[in-house]
Amino acid sequence: MGILSAKLSAVKPSQTKAMTALAATLRAEGKSIITLSQGEPDFGTPENISQAAINAIHAGRTKYTAVAGIPELREAVVRKFQRENSLNFTTDQITVGCGAKQLLFNALVASLDAGDEVVFPTPCWVSYPEMIKLAGGVPVPIETRVENGFIMRPDDLRAAITSKTKWLMLNSPSNPTGAVYTRQNLEDLAAVLRDFPDVWVLADDIYEHLVYGEAEFSTMAEAAPDLASRTLTVNGVSKSYAMTGWRVGYAGGPIELVKAMNTVQGQSTSHTCSISQYAAVEALNGDQSFIREFRDAFKVRRDLVVNLINNIPGLECSTPDGAFYVFVGCQKLLGRDTPSGKRLETDMDFAMYLMEEAGVAVVPGSGFLAAGFIRISYASSEDDLKKACAAIGQAVSKFPSPQDVA
Ligand code: PMP
Ligand code: GLU
Repeated sequence: MGILSAKLSAVKPSQTKAMTALAATLRAEGKSIITLSQGEPDFGTPENISQAAINAIHAGRTKYTAVAGIPELREAVVRKFQRENSLNFTTDQITVGCGAKQLLFNALVASLDAGDEVVFPTPCWVSYPEMIKLAGGVPVPIETRVENGFIMRPDDLRAAITSKTKWLMLNSPSNPTGAVYTRQNLEDLAAVLRDFPDVWVLADDIYEHLVYGEAEFSTMAEAAPDLASRTLTVNGVSKSYAMTGWRVGYAGGPIELVKAMNTVQGQSTSHTCSISQYAAVEALNGDQSFIREFRDAFKVRRDLVVNLINNIPGLECSTPDGAFYVFVGCQKLLGRDTPSGKRLETDMDFAMYLMEEAGVAVVPGSGFLAAGFIRISYASSEDDLKKACAAIGQAVSKFPSPQDVA
């Protein structure tokens, strides 16, 4: 009998983390690798936020805090939800953890019994199915299509719900597709959910501020206020404030659930870092103008990458409305042989080929439950993005043409 639980043997490691770790290993061996495999803004954390953390250290704010987070931060979160989403919470409806990731995990652990089902549209973030399994639940993917802009159709949601369904997990703007659910899209899904009063909504709004052009952000508890009593709204400072490493996420929802999430956290990590919490207070209460600057920069990078990628024969992508990922179809290149004679059967083979031949780390679509794609994060510098796309183009041009092979 091995040491691992049966549950863990069904859980896969995070592919975003795995590709990023492989890139780091190759770089340490002296290879030149551009990492576009992890959704992480290349900007530094704004100075006022870093200074708030330094002040917190000097003021001795280095002790354990309340499990749900320091009161100042929960108050700042209450104001943020009010200001930006017209959602009204009391501070005891707010909980803070080690990133949005941990809030999602806490919510699932707090609510799932063995065999409970969680539905979510795919392509989805790599961690959704695995977290659900870790919490003892059963992931139920709902496939969306490129033709529909990767937006889940209400009928597909209805067809996926069973008597065991506990949650709909919905991430908009979406990782990895960048799809943004409009208010109307959310209202249409809400109309389905009204027929299933036991199904709760886990709204993952981590990319809230990263929407471009005409697209507008909306969240379920705001679009369908009657569902607020069964919605947990999750967000965090990682993406909007360039604070990925600080590990601060937060959630607002019904008290009974939030209390149970605090129990999970109080018996595991206790709380996120005290210093990070003081930094997050400044992020949410302080100057917000750089959010627009970040967004403007990302929009330029998005357009750059979409253009460069669509100019590479065999690769195609649409222009995403949000987040900072381009989801690129590579089906046309599968089945081709590399110059060294290896056949590319899967998107994983293609991603590994790009790592070795182009020196570019991307994530295979199968990690997001969407075979035949790769995900490129454009949260890197324009210079790196240009170099990476040129290297991808060159690597693809090295495939012997079908005539040569014949
Ligand atoms: N949700 C989605 C869809 C994500 O892509 C991420 C990745 N960072 C998270 C949640 C978690 O972010 P964090 O834990 O850094 O707040
Ligand atoms: N969410 C980001 C991504 O998808 C960061 C890595 C992770 O936590 O998965 O790249």
